[in-house]
Amino acid sequence: MDISLVIPLYNEAESLPELYAWIERVMKANNFTYEVIFVNDGSTDNSWEVIERLKARSPFIKGIKFRRNYGKSPGLHCGFERAQGDVIITMDADLQDSPDEIPELYRMIMEDGYDLVSGWKKKRYDPISKTIPTKLFNATARKFSGIKLHDFNCGLKAYKNIVIKNIEVYNDMHRYIPYLAKIAGFNKIGEKVVKHQARKYGTTKFGLSRFVNGYLDLITLWFTSRF
Ligand code: UDP
Ligand code: MG
Repeated sequence: MDISLVIPLYNEAESLPELYAWIERVMKANNFTYEVIFVNDGSTDNSWEVIERLKARSPFIKGIKFRRNYGKSPGLHCGFERAQGDVIITMDADLQDSPDEIPELYRMIMEDGYDLVSGWKKKRYDPISKTIPTKLFNATARKFSGIKLHDFNCGLKAYKNIVIKNIEVYNDMHRYIPYLAKIAGFNKIGEKVVKHQARKYGTTKFGLSRFVNGYLDLITLWFTSRF
């Protein structure tokens, strides 16, 4: 199998049909063999019913359902355990990430030989209350990790299968997967500028606490990497 898409989601019912139709178009146009793993992180809307409906129509869809909301990191972790593709691509479920980026991300892993390629939302469509703290956060993450990425927390990323099978994404560590990969010995980390869109439906699932948690996790990882 060429590609596993891992998509964690919490209350994104409105976006899912549109997202899957777009993914299907891209996969067909490029003749990729693939699976889409939707990880329903304890949604309280009807996201799971929508996934079941899509699943009934397409053999390429797999669903994981959490009984309650555990967070994006455990969602990714369970998706990674299940993923079978040569290349694993993660994306958010809210249509902020574009499936049109999939072919080039796949090519960078398979042909250019990257272990991990991280998206860079160079032009962001987020409120200013988020974009400014994010700049500071990325500068700190670069300093601590020694990895020259502009956008650590971009939901759109691609990995060699072996990379995701050798990292454990816990707490809120989804913000630092490139750092986790580096600590696990994967050094060929690349970046690709990706298109970003404003959220079409619903609202962000992370408040300002994201930055507090983010810095705490970064310090934890930095200590871990010393030993
Ligand atoms: N998400 C999740 N569990 C959570 C919070 C978020 O699975 O507890 C998913 C969410 O549904 C989306 C992705 O993680 O698919 C990114 O979340 P969001 O769009 O709210 O973050 P932002 O784009 O504002 O950083
Ligand atoms: Mg989003």
